[in-house]
Amino acid sequence: MGYSIQLSELRLAVSRASFVSTRPVAEAGFFVSGGKAQMDIQNPIEDLRLAALDAYPGLDCIVRFVSFPEEGPFGETFFPDDGSRPVVQVAVGIPLEGSIEVMAHELAHVVAGHDAGHGPAWEAAFAAIHAAYVARAAAHPEVG
Ligand SMILES: [Zn+2]
Repeated sequence: MGYSIQLSELRLAVSRASFVSTRPVAEAGFFVSGGKAQMDIQNPIEDLRLAALDAYPGLDCIVRFVSFPEEGPFGETFFPDDGSRPVVQVAVGIPLEGSIEVMAHELAHVVAGHDAGHGPAWEAAFAAIHAAYVARAAAHPEVG
């Protein structure tokens, strides 16, 4: 049993909350520190993983990035009948900002549980994950 997200639902999610940083792209950093080159990738997928764990420390699932068929969903969450870890699948064939939104949407399904649908428990989980993501992204050091 599971859920899948279609384009109309993704647009709804984007209108609720954006997971895309409003800071200039130039702040993503390649810089030289102490004579040694260093690359710091401010990875939004890792930020989202950590943010979801900030909000829900017990969150336990597998996230896969997959190529869906052209007419397929943008993401889906499966709750295995045997009670094993839920599996989230996120499309890679869409813009990265869309993949991040989809991952957040599907993680909210994992938090809320299968029977919650897109009801209040899912809404609350999505909002909590978004808030944690914004807090985590805001904590990135400025790169000048
Ligand atoms: Zn959904």
